Amino acid sequence: MEVVSTKAELRRRLDEARAAGRRVGLVPTMGALHDGHLSLVRAARAECDVVALTIFVNPLQFAAGEDLDAYPRPLERDLDLAEQAGATIAFTPTVEEMYPRPAATTVHVAGLTASMEGAARPTHFDGVTTVVAKLFTIAGPCRAYFGEKDFQQLAVVRRMAADLDQPVTVVGCPIVREPDGLAMSSRNVYLTAEERSVATVLNRALHAGAALVEAGERDPGTVAERMAAVIGDEPRARLDYAEVVDPDTLERPARLEPGSTVRLLVAAGLGTPRLLDNLAVLVP
Ligand code: AMP
Repeated sequence: MEVVSTKAELRRRLDEARAAGRRVGLVPTMGALHDGHLSLVRAARAECDVVALTIFVNPLQFAAGEDLDAYPRPLERDLDLAEQAGATIAFTPTVEEMYPRPAATTVHVAGLTASMEGAARPTHFDGVTTVVAKLFTIAGPCRAYFGEKDFQQLAVVRRMAADLDQPVTVVGCPIVREPDGLAMSSRNVYLTAEERSVATVLNRALHAGAALVEAGERDPGTVAERMAAVIGDEPRARLDYAEVVDPDTLERPARLEPGSTVRLLVAAGLGTPRLLDNLAVLVP
């Protein structure tokens, strides 16, 4: 695996790879890699000859008072894990390399960013789409791998790539979980042992919602209330939202139509971090 830290160098390597007929995969991350990130690298490696993993803690997507400075940055460990998982290039730019001067241009995806994470973190998605648009421009034509863990982000990035005719195929990959169901996240390290033991409440809420749908409930509001109630029963969790949405529009349907697939999403604060989880449910 080659480690490159300039935009010019990454672009040159990927241009050369494409010129040699190689398929290019891109895996954008903020580092502090875990099996969720590595599953993206493996998925990329299965479909591409060259896999560029990017590690960049993007200041633009953190609001004042969020954990930008505290965000874990175990770079040497990340590089070892990335190489073992099959990455062939690691791109590790500095903030100055990515933003040599304050960006006057930002990318905003309207609509899809208004609810859920966008409501909780109003500047977050513009930071994400701006940096991902830059990475897509630097990397050039490729397949780019994103986790369903951040389901709204995946929908937003997909929409951006389509609206801007970016030469990138956005690929969504399933959530990787701990054995007890907790979705893996770099921020899980912030949990105390006690918080960690109750963090499965998000996943339990999703399954309680899914069980209602499978039992015949067709009102999405009732399903959302059930998920909120499960999280509300855990005194240490601070519910942020519990939603039932169409996976493409991210809007709550008026009614759950048999044969359709909906996405259940929850977010809650637990101690320091906010935790997210989601689940696809086929309406019987
Ligand atoms: P992050 O480093 O948190 O920005 O995440 C980088 C990428 O890894 C994003 O596309 C995330 O959705 C994805 N990701 C994070 N956690 C998981 C997980 N548990 N399972 C699958 N993908 C994940």
